[in-house]
Amino acid sequence: MFFYLCVFIVPIIIFLILHFITRDKTDDESQLTEPMEVCAFCQRDFPINQMLEKEVGTYGKIYCFCRECIESLYKEINNTGIMTGE
Ligand SMILES: [Zn+2]
Repeated sequence: MFFYLCVFIVPIIIFLILHFITRDKTDDESQLTEPMEVCAFCQRDFPINQMLEKEVGTYGKIYCFCRECIESLYKEINNTGIMTGE
């Protein structure tokens, strides 16, 4: 009985140990890379330190916007004449 228990349990334990070791390695790798965030406008991934985080709406949801989208919005509002109030 004990022999059969060892035959089944030991490979499972080895598998679990290997699984945790490989998972720890991937965790370390993800920590080394910069955290990425999706732009709320263009849905592209950018490093979070290159983006503007803004709290939007009453629920306080945080949206991230990339420089390119903000600049295009800025150009758009200049072209419409909203800035001058005309
Ligand atoms: Zn964008």
